[in-house]
Amino acid sequence: MAVADDRGGEAPASAAAMSFRWNWHPPVPLAGVPYWDWPPRPLAVAHWLVAYFTRPSDRTLFLIFALFVGLWLQPVDAAQSTLSAGWPLEVLLRNVIALAVVAGGLHLWFHTYRVQESAFEYDRPDAARRRGRRFFLGHQTWDNMFWTMVYAAPVATAWELLARVMYARGVFTGIGFAEHPVVFVLLFPLLTLWQSAHFFVIHRALHWKPLYRWVHAVHHRNVSPTPWSGLAMHPVEHVLYFSSLAIFFLLPSHPVHMLFLLFWQLLGAPSGHSGFDALSVAGRRILALDAFFHHLHHRHFECNYGSGEFPLDRWLRTGHDGTGHDGTGHDGTGSAAGNRSRRRHRAAQG
Ligand SMILES: [Zn+2]
Ligand SMILES: [Zn+2]
Repeated sequence: MAVADDRGGEAPASAAAMSFRWNWHPPVPLAGVPYWDWPPRPLAVAHWLVAYFTRPSDRTLFLIFALFVGLWLQPVDAAQSTLSAGWPLEVLLRNVIALAVVAGGLHLWFHTYRVQESAFEYDRPDAARRRGRRFFLGHQTWDNMFWTMVYAAPVATAWELLARVMYARGVFTGIGFAEHPVVFVLLFPLLTLWQSAHFFVIHRALHWKPLYRWVHAVHHRNVSPTPWSGLAMHPVEHVLYFSSLAIFFLLPSHPVHMLFLLFWQLLGAPSGHSGFDALSVAGRRILALDAFFHHLHHRHFECNYGSGEFPLDRWLRTGHDGTGHDGTGHDGTGSAAGNRSRRRHRAAQG
């Protein structure tokens, strides 16, 4: 969900793209999306949207997967108006398999077999501390897999089951491509905006001290996140995180929109915590992941609560654009929040 620009190209080795705190990072300051340019530039937005959803990226694959599941593999049908045995288990199984493929596959590629070595990897090798008592089972990966498979998959599935029952009963208002093609298409980027704002609000609340200690500290054990870290959360956070799907009580939609929003979060969290900017072969990026915006949150703690689409962080002065105390100049938070947050983060880590 980080901001995407068309950086393309090969893994840079220039001093300008590196710093002593990072192995690699994208050009900073991170670019913004053109939604919020003033005066408005609708043509630039249209051009950016087409480029964003047609380039090889995790997000494009999630869109394709939502269409595949919603239109062919597991469409909503009348039988889903009740939670009879059978179909709910198939939905759970599909989510578990999708998570295993995305989180497990990326973990094996990036971290177990180090197929692309350190190309496009944010953290330096010595920054990753993946063992320790703070992790359940004493190891980051096993800890993260536990929270993901035991809690995240069932909670996300519960939200999907609720949505499917609502569609089947006609409580969620359905729209089709044939009747409303423009609205149907525009709902996809609109949902990413909604998700960005929703995530900012719940995530900002989870950094309130009592909630942080009780709930969100589980996620922040991961200072140097890997794909399995994306959904390594307390189950209360899972319930809040996937509550974005409640928007469909108000918003007319098709089940593929619900699935797109679900996969954006369920599968986007693992890809967005990869620790790498892109999947690459021979130094060339073949699949953009754009995870640096949120990676900065794990590094600096009290910044970048949202994502690039809805720039609430910038407006509320909690945005970190990648510049600053990483060896690239000024404090990127633009306030004293950076220093304060780092002190609290160290305290929370013990
Ligand atoms: Zn956080
Ligand atoms: Zn995170």
